[in-house]
Amino acid sequence: MPKRPQPRFPEPNSQPFWEGVREGELRYPTCDACSEVVFYPRLHCPFCGSRELSWKVSRGEGSVYTYSVVRQNRMPGFIELGAYSVAYIDLDEGFRMLSSVVGVDDPTRDIHIGQRVKVEFEPQEEGDYPIPVFRPI
Ligand SMILES: [Zn+2]
Repeated sequence: MPKRPQPRFPEPNSQPFWEGVREGELRYPTCDACSEVVFYPRLHCPFCGSRELSWKVSRGEGSVYTYSVVRQNRMPGFIELGAYSVAYIDLDEGFRMLSSVVGVDDPTRDIHIGQRVKVEFEPQEEGDYPIPVFRPI
């Protein structure tokens, strides 16, 4: 199977996120000044402008905010998947991330808004970063 797209470094905004993924953790930054969750990861807080952020580890559980199903993707790395979902997941810690719901027989039937899901890390080729995806719980 061809390679999935991978992050490129140096990438100071998201590198701690990807290092967490490699260690089996879903990390997210919060603002030390106003306590807001900052996701997608950035070097500053979009709510108050502070650059004092701390990384935390999510429990990896949340619910499907919305989703779509890609029935055919001819891009290398996706062509052999068949139909797959692209989903926004609301994590319990208060951030929303774009990912995919996996482990269902038919993504056109078996995924629902509000469905509870948990993160898992899909292994890639040796040395590549795993891809965080979500499975119904
Ligand atoms: Zn802030």
